[in-house]
Amino acid sequence: MKNGNLSFWLDSTRSLSRPRPRAEGTIYADVVIIGGGYTGLWTAYWLKKNDPSIKVVVLEKEFVGYGASGRNGGWISGKTVGIRRNLLSNSVSAGQVVDMERACHRAVFEIDDLMRSEGKDIDAVRGGWMQIARNESELSRLRQHLENDRKWGLTEDEVRMLAGSEAYDRVHVPEVLGALFSPFAVKCNPAKLVYALGEICDDLGVKIYENSPVEEFSDGDCRTTRGHVHGTVVVLATEAYTAAFPGRRRDLLPMISSMVVTEPIAEEHWDAIGWSGYECLSGAQHMYFYAQRTADNRIAIGGRGVPYFWRSNLDKSGELDPGTTSQLNRILSGLFPNVPLEIAHSWRGVLGVPRDWSPFIDHIKRNRLIRVGGYAGQGVTAAYVAGRSVADIITEKDSSLAQSAWVREHPRKWEAEPLRWIGSRSVQMMYKAADTIEYRRGGEETSVLGRLATKISGR
Ligand SMILES: Cc1cc2nc3c(=O)[nH]c(=O)nc-3n(C[C@H](O)[C@H](O)[C@H](O)COP(=O)(O)OP(=O)(O)OC[C@H]3O[C@@H](n4cnc5c(N)ncnc54)[C@H](O)[C@@H]3O)c2cc1C
Repeated sequence: MKNGNLSFWLDSTRSLSRPRPRAEGTIYADVVIIGGGYTGLWTAYWLKKNDPSIKVVVLEKEFVGYGASGRNGGWISGKTVGIRRNLLSNSVSAGQVVDMERACHRAVFEIDDLMRSEGKDIDAVRGGWMQIARNESELSRLRQHLENDRKWGLTEDEVRMLAGSEAYDRVHVPEVLGALFSPFAVKCNPAKLVYALGEICDDLGVKIYENSPVEEFSDGDCRTTRGHVHGTVVVLATEAYTAAFPGRRRDLLPMISSMVVTEPIAEEHWDAIGWSGYECLSGAQHMYFYAQRTADNRIAIGGRGVPYFWRSNLDKSGELDPGTTSQLNRILSGLFPNVPLEIAHSWRGVLGVPRDWSPFIDHIKRNRLIRVGGYAGQGVTAAYVAGRSVADIITEKDSSLAQSAWVREHPRKWEAEPLRWIGSRSVQMMYKAADTIEYRRGGEETSVLGRLATKISGR
């Protein structure tokens, strides 16, 4: 089994990565973007679409896709990004909050269409997402979730409940009692998506520099290890990695998400698994999992492991601890107990969680800076929508995205240590215990520990 070295996706598509120069000397641009993940690249893409004459530079510390964009679960999904009530304010209505959700719904298929029209194969399949319940309390949480969706105006066409038998027909998970289903998800190979996007940006004339870490930025100027890049505005698109900049350790919590992928599963076992629709599959337990069937017939599955490193430290090679690998393996064999499954690769990455768990596009005009991100684990589609919004703001396009519910001040900072560390570890332990209690005890009610953990985390 291979462990780390970033991810299975990056590892298996390395030949598709295009080498790019370092930023050296003094460079002038209209817009300087820090970070070569989905957010930085979609921002660059939409800037060029809005105004082909605009000079856009992307500065990437390592290589395009090095961060969460090259390591994620590959769900291009329309799942709710952030917490709706936290996006409401005096100037933002419930309708505007849901408008952003619908923008994400549309974006799921726009991304797929765009990649196809550009001739890029990202292993995309339109299967929707399905969140399954395997005990009464999980089912009850899904029902409450749906009830809340209906209050906010989501329709049966957008999200609906499947009976246990319908869910089982799709993916043969034993003891499934029911599931939430939405057609708004496309599974993909995330590294292929980020590489393709990088190439499309190159072709549009975006100048992407790799191995070019920005050490400091202020008033439109970015100091790299080998020079300066000056722009009219700087876009900070470093999500979880923002914590590495001086004074920004508490802006976003770098939360770890961990994944494993199996060896290819032989054709004869797929009858026992089902999954011919390639749905993006997740669970409703507190120790949440997300999974996809890959193009080469593996199962890639991710979830919570070690949740966070002391003082917001960042992981480098993506190496996964043995405890988390076994935990994901146990989830996998619980889902498909009669199928021989062998883990081929394990890894982890970091995603950016703001204090209110909701995305932001914060334009600080006096500092010539736009900070964008905070998708809390739902960034594959959200980065497309956020990047387009940032581009509309910079090019002063009169669009609803430029004034959306995500355009707001950066949420308040996280607590100082040791509170962040204690908080994240305790939440993790409480969620684990809550799942055990709910399985043993039965019944519809969510355990007190589960409710408490959600409250402490601020969700
Ligand atoms: C394991 C895992 C599974 C996930 N699964 C899903 C999923 O299935 N669906 C979903 O919607 N979301 C998922 N997410 C979240 C999603 O991947 C992220 O929200 C999204 O990729 C964020 O993109 P980004 O461009 O904002 O950040 P990143 O992709 O993290 O990019 C930030 C970039 O900034 C660069 N950088 C950092 N510091 C500097 C500097 N000083 N100078 C220059 N460059 C710098 C980094 O090298 C990095 O390339 C998952 C995340 C993880 C970790």
